[in-house]
Amino acid sequence: MSRIFLSKADVTQVEEEFVLDAVRSGWVAPLGPHVDAFEGEIAARIGVAGALALSSGTAALHLALLHLGVGPGSVVVLPSMTFAASANAVAYTGAEPVFVDADVSDANVDPQLLLEAVDTLVAEGTHVAAVMVVDLFGRTVDYAAIADPLLQRGIPLVEDAAEALGASFEGRCAGSFGRAAALSFNGNKIMTTSGGGMLLSDDLELIEKARYLSTQARQPVPWYEHTDIGYNYRLSNVLAALGRAQLTRLDTMISRRRAVRRAYVEALADLPGVRFLPGDGSRPDAEDNCWLTTITLDPDQTSVTADALIKALAEDDIEARHLWKPMHAQPVFAGARAFLNGSSDRLFRTGVTLPSGSVLSDADVERVVHVARAALDHS
Ligand SMILES: *Cc1c(COP(=O)(O)O)cnc(C)c1O
Repeated sequence: MSRIFLSKADVTQVEEEFVLDAVRSGWVAPLGPHVDAFEGEIAARIGVAGALALSSGTAALHLALLHLGVGPGSVVVLPSMTFAASANAVAYTGAEPVFVDADVSDANVDPQLLLEAVDTLVAEGTHVAAVMVVDLFGRTVDYAAIADPLLQRGIPLVEDAAEALGASFEGRCAGSFGRAAALSFNGNKIMTTSGGGMLLSDDLELIEKARYLSTQARQPVPWYEHTDIGYNYRLSNVLAALGRAQLTRLDTMISRRRAVRRAYVEALADLPGVRFLPGDGSRPDAEDNCWLTTITLDPDQTSVTADALIKALAEDDIEARHLWKPMHAQPVFAGARAFLNGSSDRLFRTGVTLPSGSVLSDADVERVVHVARAALDHS
């Protein structure tokens, strides 16, 4: 039997044709018609004025923070429950990350605690240069509880939408909130350019300044003239072609992930102690993209641990993973300040992300269900 991956890239003949076109056109540099078209298509899809194609989502976060003046002597408040890339982008600028715990119900940042953290820091005289929120596992944060309060406090919001392309909140797409947002097209995300990202904003000056920094900050003169430290962050035309092909199939891929999620809910939700993190149809005015279907195992109701379930699946060559280990518990951020309520630690201890890729066949899903049920019945 073949290995079942957590979130495998979903590539078809459409992708082959787009990439072949890029190669045959001779545009294999980090510039070209596919890059321009990809930026336009993503901006239109998300409903923002500007988009900048980059080599990674992390690069997009980094450039967004730089534009907002984040640097040494300031802090950025962000969720503890996230992938390290969110916090690394803060560290690149020389600013300090301050972590905020999760809402245990959906693993996204706790809005109340986030505002408390901001107010505490500001009252202490700390320069909070930005807040970064993360739309975790393809579900947006509760922007109704976060966006306006931050606006009132004059603190810019950056949206890490790396996992949330295709999700929406109150009719607005993930990636359209805050002063700027980042998407990721890494290999395991909902769609991929094999590696890449996009910076999004309605502020075209922000996009153009980031474009300049992303190409080694070259002055517009006939020789190489530099007045700023730049970066080499642009996406290649070949990879942009791959991205455009994926974008034509995005809705199909999201539907498949949704169907996979529904199959898991139907087959596993009745087991004692198993809870699905909300994902599909759980909010009237929002839609998740169902990137990764995630369950938690309540230790009061089942003796099977997250570790044990992941091991049982691995024995059958099925890849499942723990949720992100919180940033406040990471050795590299040991010195960072954190506002905690215990939720992210608990989610890390008890959570399992199940194979969720759009390439999964019905038989694959059945195999995961079969092994998972067998493991969970040992409680
Ligand atoms: C994947 C991811 C990123 C980084 O994206 P890359 O394109 O891999 O640099 C950032 N934040 C979150 C939450 C992610 O899941």
